[in-house]
Amino acid sequence: MVEPALSQLETDALRNDRFHLIQAAPVAGSIGAEARELITSSEDIFVFDQSGRKLIDGPAGMWCVNVGHRNQALADTLHDQAMSLTYSTPWYTSNAPAEKLAQILAERAPGDLNHVFLTTGGSSAVETAIRLVQFYNNVRGQPQKKLLVSRQGSYHGSTYLTASLNGRPRDHDWMDGASELVRKLTCPNPFHRPANLSVEAFEDFLVDEFRKLIAHEGAGRIAAFVAEPIQASGGVLMSPPNYLKRMRALCAENDILFIADEVVTAFGRLGHIFASEDVFGIQPDMITFAKGVTSGYFPLGGVMVSERLFAELRRSNHPNANFVHGLTYSSHPIGCAVAIRNIELLEDGLLEHAREIGPYFQEQLRTLEELPLVGEVRGAGLMAGIECVADAKAENPFDLDLTVGKRIDFHCQENGLLVRPLINMCVMSPPLTINRSQIDMMTDALRKGIEATAQDLI
Ligand code: PLP
Repeated sequence: MVEPALSQLETDALRNDRFHLIQAAPVAGSIGAEARELITSSEDIFVFDQSGRKLIDGPAGMWCVNVGHRNQALADTLHDQAMSLTYSTPWYTSNAPAEKLAQILAERAPGDLNHVFLTTGGSSAVETAIRLVQFYNNVRGQPQKKLLVSRQGSYHGSTYLTASLNGRPRDHDWMDGASELVRKLTCPNPFHRPANLSVEAFEDFLVDEFRKLIAHEGAGRIAAFVAEPIQASGGVLMSPPNYLKRMRALCAENDILFIADEVVTAFGRLGHIFASEDVFGIQPDMITFAKGVTSGYFPLGGVMVSERLFAELRRSNHPNANFVHGLTYSSHPIGCAVAIRNIELLEDGLLEHAREIGPYFQEQLRTLEELPLVGEVRGAGLMAGIECVADAKAENPFDLDLTVGKRIDFHCQENGLLVRPLINMCVMSPPLTINRSQIDMMTDALRKGIEATAQDLI
């Protein structure tokens, strides 16, 4: 390994007085005092750290660098747009890249999702969807229809309202939320289903639970069901085969809006621009997206909204009912230009590549199930979760040292792979440009990392 020549900026960043930056998700005792590893550069599927290590970027940043790092076409687009129109306010004006992107998205979104509100990322997209739902029900004279239904195991963001929807273990231990607005259903992960239920019976139980909730609260009080088609940050949790379709049908029967949170699953991770219809066979009322829409080169997200919802708003007889909602960086021309170019790159072979290589990725990672520490490898396309168990055959297989994900990450890094640790799991979602031999390298590093972790735990 060659010692890298660090820039002055990087050298400064490594000095001990660098603790002004509050990092995401520290524990209380280390808040403002956590020296994290510095990532100094990146290329295609690799990142390089402060000591010059070359690591496969297993999570593609945070499920986002879909076209890979250091893409010349996206860098040029960023530069060119900044040098032509740098910014225009979304409150009183519009700009051509935003109008064009809206058209491109509407053409690709399922069903009648013909309208889009552009935001700055995933949390602001889900937050916008919720505020739009509230506005919609106020305007159509149903102000009592405000409850939001989400699931255990979900992640929808870090603003107050979106975080209130989250349902992963520890999401709410130390944080407040708008719990009065939210009802949570059971996590639809078959791996953790009750031992006495088949997957089919578990699916029936989940749908029935929603039906009972509607009966208990009253359809007139429930505004929307918010769901990731695959619960990504919960550990790539795949629901039973017909669950999403059945939940969608229940929503339609009860005038409850179905919001598909596709912040992770859209823009190529499952081989399609949007996955709701192409992969899961459902047409939501709204789709939220972010991350892969710009491959992480610019913070941008949005919410696709159905024609039906728009038609109802247009029918409203409240001429002064304003949707007072907007972000300074909504419809940002640089972000929109990058998104347009990014979608061109995806459609110019990368989606097809992801569809072709996805099964190989899944097949290779599933070979890790032979390791005693691995309880399940699951996923679809280019997203996978590896869940560790103490002993798959033990009475309580989930009773495990919870630093296991971090340990796997540590050992994988020694073998050239960065993974995203999640308590007893790690999730993988590499850039879509990954090839077969790189998938082999990744699997090999994971195998070594998990074996070394098993040794630690003896
Ligand atoms: N929704 C989902 C499904 C996500 O995975 C995330 C982030 O990981 C978000 C929303 C929030 O997006 P952001 O971090 O861009 O605000």
